[in-house]
Amino acid sequence: MTNRLNGKEKASILLIYTGGTIGMKQDPSDMTLKPFDFSQILDEAPELSKFAYKIDTYTFSPIIDSSDVEPGLWQELAQLIADRYDRYDGFVILHGTDTMAYSASVLSFMLEDLSKPVIFTGSQLPIGVPRTDGKENLISSVEIAAAKDSDGKAIVPEVCIYFDNVLMRGNRASKVNSDNFHAFRSENLQPLAIAGISIRYNRAIIRRPPCTERPLKVHTSLDTRVSILKMHPGITPHVVRNILCGDQTRAVIIETYGSGNATCKEWFISIVREASGSGKILLNVTQCLGGCVNMDIYANGKTLKDSGVINSHDITTEGALAKLFFLMGQSSDNNWVKSMLEEDLRGEISK
Ligand code: ASP
Repeated sequence: MTNRLNGKEKASILLIYTGGTIGMKQDPSDMTLKPFDFSQILDEAPELSKFAYKIDTYTFSPIIDSSDVEPGLWQELAQLIADRYDRYDGFVILHGTDTMAYSASVLSFMLEDLSKPVIFTGSQLPIGVPRTDGKENLISSVEIAAAKDSDGKAIVPEVCIYFDNVLMRGNRASKVNSDNFHAFRSENLQPLAIAGISIRYNRAIIRRPPCTERPLKVHTSLDTRVSILKMHPGITPHVVRNILCGDQTRAVIIETYGSGNATCKEWFISIVREASGSGKILLNVTQCLGGCVNMDIYANGKTLKDSGVINSHDITTEGALAKLFFLMGQSSDNNWVKSMLEEDLRGEISK
């Protein structure tokens, strides 16, 4: 079907609803927020019709609180986008904020050679309440998903998160506030766009596929055998051994202090060596929101590096988890996964 507006083709957008606060209502029986029917969200944002875009909708079943998200939903989402890729100029995914950064990170790896925008958004207050942030988030996300350059190509062909006037690369963002409208931050990468009176795009850092003619490649295979060990003073050998040496674990993200440091007590280093010696992938991710891992600065960091721990550079924990799920889903060769962890695949690290 051709959609024309004053001789120009109308942008067509697929709005996908997975759940989250944006579409929740208070259940009078217990006063908790629960997801409600998607058609009512559109009724709450009649402004969308002023764009004169063609907006189709797709609702997941069941709609979920995003703290229930599972890899199956990511696989369904990636497949849905792939199946409808040729029919739409852009995709907007309404998603709960709790795990939005995880979902956006994983999708960024699953969708290779993306040439169209995939914008995740949601809200802190349900769209039906008077002070909602959901309306602006939804309306600007749709505008960004439809935005094209004069050559007809999408301005932002990336998986992004749009929240509170800021467009962030999806695999660079983290949820940092549970009740402020400014819920997400991308500490290690500037915004891809800022929405004020107009939407100002930061074209210098927006990634484009090497060649727009290349078809979208979708990777739906994920291996989730990853654990996270968060370092803290007082951590015990028992806890460290359980996490690093579990037989169901193929990779461990070690959330270290500062620029990638952890205790170099003998018991700790000996467990790290045992795990890496048995072939496990150990990835060093800093607990800091900003900055990067450099295991050559302090002796403690250097000891980790010498024990086989891999440098994640300035990735977020959400991005690291997603990158591991994706790479491990591609190959059973842990040495290949380790070498790819050092590469910048989707703009997730600065190198
Ligand atoms: N618990 C909700 C969710 O992530 C929170 C939100 O949407 O902001 O689905």
